[in-house]
Amino acid sequence: MTVAHAPLARRHRVAVLGATGAVGQAFIRMLADHPWFELTEVAASERSAGKTYREAAHWIGSGEMPAGVGEMVVRACDPAAISADIVFSALDSPVAADAEPAFARAGKMVLTNAKNYRMETDVPLVIAEVNPSHLHVIDAQRRNRGWRGAIVANGNCASIVAALPLAPIHERFGIAKLVLMTMQAVSGAGYPGVASLDILGNVIPFIRDEEPKIEVEIQKFLGRVGGEKIESAGFPVSAHANRVAVEHGHTVCMSIELVTKADAADVEQAIADWRGAPDAHGLPSAPDRPIVVADQPDHPQPRRQVDTGGGMTVVVGRVRSDPVLDVKLVAMGHNVIRGAAGASVLNAELMVRCGLLTVP
Ligand code: NAP
Repeated sequence: MTVAHAPLARRHRVAVLGATGAVGQAFIRMLADHPWFELTEVAASERSAGKTYREAAHWIGSGEMPAGVGEMVVRACDPAAISADIVFSALDSPVAADAEPAFARAGKMVLTNAKNYRMETDVPLVIAEVNPSHLHVIDAQRRNRGWRGAIVANGNCASIVAALPLAPIHERFGIAKLVLMTMQAVSGAGYPGVASLDILGNVIPFIRDEEPKIEVEIQKFLGRVGGEKIESAGFPVSAHANRVAVEHGHTVCMSIELVTKADAADVEQAIADWRGAPDAHGLPSAPDRPIVVADQPDHPQPRRQVDTGGGMTVVVGRVRSDPVLDVKLVAMGHNVIRGAAGASVLNAELMVRCGLLTVP
């Protein structure tokens, strides 16, 4: 399905914080020629501020840097230096801790990739196709914190890849228990990331702070809005996180106990039929399908399918019965696009559609 997106009468001005890093560069690519958003400012650390973007950023993306961006002067991550009302944040968490609330306090809508605020009960942690209703806690967030703007988070890259196929399973059958194991790409560690001598020909069975994040974020995505806060789903989750020598694409193997028993074929059908919340259908960055089921027995594979749906589709395969729990499967998605920049841009598009991207 190809959907034409007429430019809005006036595009929303947007800025990217942490614009020089791995996720920041993915934002730059996704915002080039965006029909609804106009990139007006880029910001990064004091090391980069004052330089042109071309001087400051070591361009690691495929293809050329989009026209016009290279000549933009990098600004400091200070609300006073940014005129755009919508701010995409690809900041590291130690910086995001203070910078993002400062932007929200100054009236900016902040769409963040950092971990700091994801688990606050008045901060929506959103996958556009999974839990758009969670955006409604923004009003409570503003009241609670006295902010004119707000923070909306997307999840950890592995949590998003896992949560997309879990959403139709939870909707249809209910999840009672979940055990998962990740194989995460090196680009998930940012640039320059993991030293090549540590990762080439190797598997590192530890990613700092990753397992607790995955365990709680999946439950929040699949939770519900109760009053003025988000209540996480209550099923237990156990995660093992590993770094592997893959450039892009996190692979997640999952074993699931169901509340309502079903066989693997029913679970696979539920995943294949799912299109996600109608609110997200046809948005400029929404893929035709948020999840597809691979038709080959040895897929998904990052090298073969990481760019499915422009990097926004999670590919699922090997749905089969599990002799310990009920069913098991493999999911794979692009960590920098679906797991980071693309998730934020899609959330912002959803907010435009829902009338939430006006700053009071
Ligand atoms: P990265 O490649 O290391 O980039 C970090 C960015 O933050 C750079 O633009 C850097 O600017 C900027 N920065 C560092 N210190 C700063 C400071 N003191 N003040 C202002 N800016 C500062 O990291 P990344 O992989 O893009 O990740 C960015 C965020 O997204 C992190 O919170 C990460 O956890 C999250 N995330 C990443 C992924 C992924 O797949 N990579 C997925 C989901 C979420 P300089 O160039 O000037 O140093």
